[in-house]
Amino acid sequence: MTEAAAVDFARMPTLGDVARYHAQERPDAVAFSFEGRDTRFSDLDRHTNQVARALIAEGLKPGDRIAYVGKNSDLYFEMLLGAAKAGIVTAPIGWRLAPAEIAYIVADTEAKMVFVGPELVDHVGEVAKLLDGPRPPVVAMEPGGPADLPLFTAWRDAQSDVDPATPLRSSDVVLQLYTSGTTGKPKGAMLTHDNLLAMRKAAAERAPMDWNVWGPDDVSLVAMPVAHIGGTGWGLVGLFNGAKGVVAREFDPTKVLDFIEHDRVSKMFLVPAALQIVVRLPRAREIDYSRLSYILYGAAPIPLDLLRESIEVFGCGFVQQYGMTETTGTVVYLPPEDHDPAGNKRMRSAGLPMPGVELRILDEAGGVLPANTVGEIAVRSGSNMAGYWKLDAATDATIDADGWLRTGDAGYLDEDGYLFIHDRVKDMIVSGGENIYPAEVESAVYGHPHVAEVAVIGVPDDKWGEAVKAVVAPRPGVTPDPDDIIAFARTRIAHFKAPKSVDFVEALPRNASGKILRRQLREPYWAGRER
Ligand code: ATP
Ligand code: MG
Repeated sequence: MTEAAAVDFARMPTLGDVARYHAQERPDAVAFSFEGRDTRFSDLDRHTNQVARALIAEGLKPGDRIAYVGKNSDLYFEMLLGAAKAGIVTAPIGWRLAPAEIAYIVADTEAKMVFVGPELVDHVGEVAKLLDGPRPPVVAMEPGGPADLPLFTAWRDAQSDVDPATPLRSSDVVLQLYTSGTTGKPKGAMLTHDNLLAMRKAAAERAPMDWNVWGPDDVSLVAMPVAHIGGTGWGLVGLFNGAKGVVAREFDPTKVLDFIEHDRVSKMFLVPAALQIVVRLPRAREIDYSRLSYILYGAAPIPLDLLRESIEVFGCGFVQQYGMTETTGTVVYLPPEDHDPAGNKRMRSAGLPMPGVELRILDEAGGVLPANTVGEIAVRSGSNMAGYWKLDAATDATIDADGWLRTGDAGYLDEDGYLFIHDRVKDMIVSGGENIYPAEVESAVYGHPHVAEVAVIGVPDDKWGEAVKAVVAPRPGVTPDPDDIIAFARTRIAHFKAPKSVDFVEALPRNASGKILRRQLREPYWAGRER
């Protein structure tokens, strides 16, 4: 383990201060490395001053929004911190969304300017046509697009690099991150400087946990999309701690291994769907992982067999993360020492609250439930969002007057305070009066040797109300027998939880954060019926 970088979080109340602070403390250290380009902390500080000035010169005012549609890049982080220095809110939008979905979110943000990556530059016209309201000016992040678009670096470099020193409050909104849209339309979660920094500060100062201690030699891999908290949030955690962030343009499993081998990556965050692809590459078993100290994973349930396989292949520390966009990411973590493949039941848990986080389990009326009783998980912490952008009713339904945020996830706390997540409340299957949580059934079926991926849904059933159905994507070259899969599941979980039927598909529908879209799988079965 490296020596703690001893970051003084008191000197960085806002995102812009993060650049200012590290430019003083470690000006020549690399903040971001992207496709051969290194940005030192001193560069980051100057560039973000220029970005702030460029936005001000365009007439933007504190509280205005800008949108970013593109893959990951170091320049995205410059833009975010530069906008932060001018009090401007950045809304990153998933580049994999369809033009109509992008147009919906761009319009929702009311962005005064839109910054687009090269992969989107050709669709600018298409998206613009879909916008009902005003068409904001567009800046291209990289060369190669239509000649009439200004280029980000030129637009930035036309400005002086003197700090604009815009007065700000740490309670101001700085990032508007859209939820993944797993259960409905994405909602804009408004996150403040405090949301992003306060818990990091508490965690670093109050309870330094090995996996969360960063040293000057730490290198973090930013491989998840920046439109998701697992991309932007994770990228910022490394930055706050003065570590070097290796930014991957997009998730590419082979390149993840290359980065680990050649860029001395020591910490990375991957969602389970990404971890599964990496761990199954034959080359994954040939690499030296001695520099890799921790893999953080989360944002969706992980099948136990996948976790075991990953621990075996990487041999490094593992930390689970549970949280949501609305809680600025991680609020619960499962420490490395609880990752004991030999049968520790805590391996099935999401873990313990981060310092400064309170958890409760609520019944439908909002009453607090005792240990070992399943209900809705509620969270109170300094990283609960300020609210949903322009969705006051949804905000009020999510956060109560005392600051408790209802997650929509079902789970329980055990007597030691470990959180066990069952699933989203809305995905729970009620069959013959029993509550069944798809993630548990998926984890059981996933272990079958012919199964590559599995989703479990409830389908209408005259006798049981709902019946459990597994939708399976088989491993290449095999044709599994549905009865064999059902029999296999029955050896691992209670019969009433095991699937009653199995459908086969080539691949499961997932959103950009790798989450299975169960609502899409359910739709054809429920057409015209109430669920
Ligand atoms: P939307 O709110 O738009 O439907 P979403 O909830 O998928 O989308 P995110 O904020 O990206 O958007 O995801 C948060 C959700 O991810 C949590 O509410 C929970 O259901 C799931 N999740 C996060 N971490 C874990 C974890 N460690 N284990 C299981 N599920 C997790
Ligand atoms: Mg959600």
